[in-house]
Amino acid sequence: MAEYLTEHFSLQEMIRSSFATRKGLDNTPTGKQRASLVRVCEVLEEVRSLLGGRSLFVSSGLRKGRVNDDQGGARNSAHKKGLAADLDNLPEGNYESFLQMAPYVLQRELPVDQLIGEFFLHDEPRGGWIHLGLADEGREPRYQILRAAKVRGRTRYLLWDEPWEMV
Ligand SMILES: [Zn+2]
Repeated sequence: MAEYLTEHFSLQEMIRSSFATRKGLDNTPTGKQRASLVRVCEVLEEVRSLLGGRSLFVSSGLRKGRVNDDQGGARNSAHKKGLAADLDNLPEGNYESFLQMAPYVLQRELPVDQLIGEFFLHDEPRGGWIHLGLADEGREPRYQILRAAKVRGRTRYLLWDEPWEMV
């Protein structure tokens, strides 16, 4: 029986990791991480409403320690604290949904620390994914909109309004 953290988002989907399962790594949240996941789900409920109330697929939530590091996640990733969710397979397309969400972050209507368009591709509107990260409890979010791209083989995070081309 699924245990729901908020109306539409279950604990299971926020902590499941095929990588952790395959490698036998523990991805069980601490009390603090669990509380952070609840905060993330509360924001996801708002996002869900903004995007028309259709289901959101969370491809990754909590990634404790090695679960994050061993699969190449950023060392300071908000996923390690349970403060982030990656969204994929969005009904309207990932890129389109990202463009719909961004103004709400910029206008500070969604309490998002970083909204990152991850590896969107020119010719694949459903490619890439959306990273949504929150600030630590009690800290003011930065309301940053970033995009991640591979530039000459290295991952770069650029501010959304810097000139760029999708690569
Ligand atoms: Zn992420």
